[in-house]
Amino acid sequence: MKYKGSCHCGKIRFEVEGEITSAMACNCSMCQRKGALLWFVPRDRLTLLTAEKDLGTYTFNKHVIKHRFCQTCGIHPYGEGADPKGNFTAAVNLRCLDEVDLDTVPVQHFDGRSL
Ligand SMILES: [Zn+2]
Repeated sequence: MKYKGSCHCGKIRFEVEGEITSAMACNCSMCQRKGALLWFVPRDRLTLLTAEKDLGTYTFNKHVIKHRFCQTCGIHPYGEGADPKGNFTAAVNLRCLDEVDLDTVPVQHFDGRSL
């Protein structure tokens, strides 16, 4: 499946390809505030359709994950970084995708606060 996603104002638009089998809800200091439901895909499955310069980047803690956000509307559509094995991975915020029925996606809770 190919999904389209965006921030709220539309300055950030992207496509992402894969099967959504589950979502992760994390309770770390960042995810708790964002309320994101995360879906992990290899980074090369995500294609940015808009200008890279419109993306803001926020990092914290170990600064290994780039939390990407729209500098106009403030929505965080995805994050990106290398996983522990060195694979470049995107964590897509399912709430920013079109036409995904979130009620049908099983949610796994991750205790990121304890890391
Ligand atoms: Zn925006």
